[in-house]
Amino acid sequence: MTSNRGPARLTDGRGLVVIRGGRIVDPASGRDEVGDVWMEDGRMIERPSDAREETGGRRPFVIDARGKVVTPGLIDMHVHLREPGREDKETIQSGARAGSAGGFTAVACMPNTDPVIDNAEVVHFVLERARQADIKVYPIGAITKGERGEQLAEIAEMVDAGIVGISDDGKNVDDPAIMRRALEYAKMFGIPVIPHCEDMNLSAGGVMNEGVVSTVLGLKGIPNAAEEVIVARDITLTELTGSRLHIAHVSTAGSVVLIREAKRRGIAVTAEATPHHFSLTDEAVRTYDTNTKVNPPLRTARDVEAIQEGLADGTIDVIATDHAPHTIDDKAVEYDLAPFGLIGLETALGLVIARLVQTGTLSLMDAIRKMTVAPARILGLPGGTLEPGAPADVTVFDPDRQWRVTPDVFLSRSRNSPFYGWTLRGAVEYTIVDGRVSGWAMPGGEKT
Ligand SMILES: [Zn+2]
Repeated sequence: MTSNRGPARLTDGRGLVVIRGGRIVDPASGRDEVGDVWMEDGRMIERPSDAREETGGRRPFVIDARGKVVTPGLIDMHVHLREPGREDKETIQSGARAGSAGGFTAVACMPNTDPVIDNAEVVHFVLERARQADIKVYPIGAITKGERGEQLAEIAEMVDAGIVGISDDGKNVDDPAIMRRALEYAKMFGIPVIPHCEDMNLSAGGVMNEGVVSTVLGLKGIPNAAEEVIVARDITLTELTGSRLHIAHVSTAGSVVLIREAKRRGIAVTAEATPHHFSLTDEAVRTYDTNTKVNPPLRTARDVEAIQEGLADGTIDVIATDHAPHTIDDKAVEYDLAPFGLIGLETALGLVIARLVQTGTLSLMDAIRKMTVAPARILGLPGGTLEPGAPADVTVFDPDRQWRVTPDVFLSRSRNSPFYGWTLRGAVEYTIVDGRVSGWAMPGGEKT
């Protein structure tokens, strides 16, 4: 299936670029003002004294951003790019293009590929593929070999090869002694451990949230406790080891309470939530649309409210998509049999603006912080700011433009979104990576 959003590479990254007259929102420096943003040869710079747009001097490439928002390039620290192994669902290149269209200039990709990213060779493969991609791709290595939970992966050699964190995402690390050793190793290398918290005995056979809706639908539920007992365990082990924990895709009110309390006690824990977990409840499963089948599952309105409160009070540091592409054939089966996951890179910003900013839950500054400097700091990435000297990674979007989610807007190789028919707000116009400008035209949509 093709998309009707045309990518246009407008510059090659060399020379001067100026973004004129936009609302600059840079959480790293606290800047929120209308002005110009300059870059040269892939770096952010102050306005150069010899720049002349009219006559003489050097001519910059000019982007007119009046009425638009200019932010550091968005960073998604949790995506599944499916390469190597399932290139029919996504590739590093197609996922990166979807990311660029969604306003992301960098993503961190999870290791549950085939083969699993559990040794330096696979890390090198991913980074080699990433060099051809539209945006920056940072691999996360597995905690255990093959994500089997038995033996630690080759963490030291993967760190040398360039991983930015470790995770067995998609699976829990069941053995607490192995989790403890992973935390100790990660501490030595200064990288975070990113657990997928799910007690596999409590969740066994479950396909959606355990509650009223699962009972009515006759589907097997996954209780909130399946997540919370492991969140509590991993916080305890983080305190024991003095290591650094970043909890993936928080979905329950109880997890938010546990993380808030851990932070209050000074434990080095951070957390992320996905747009679907702050936008949808398990009521969405009533349609039996397999695109609502995701792990952790969509929870209740009370959980969604707690996630939003956690985002607002800083308990949840990061918004990440858990972009998980699946083919139409994989999802076109009964609910019980469908794989977990949905695509998120191209709807994330629109959901953040429509569901968090427009509703007053988060300021634009706080929302952008959770998609730029916060993930950059957790993973130790360059970027996340517009300050001079930083990489020229910038996102320009129209905050007022509404658009309807339809299959043909997506550049991802997959189409498994639960948001068809939704009207979102905030359309990406330019994504700039190391000074290379890509222009994105959102079809249809109307200004309000
Ligand atoms: Zn996960």
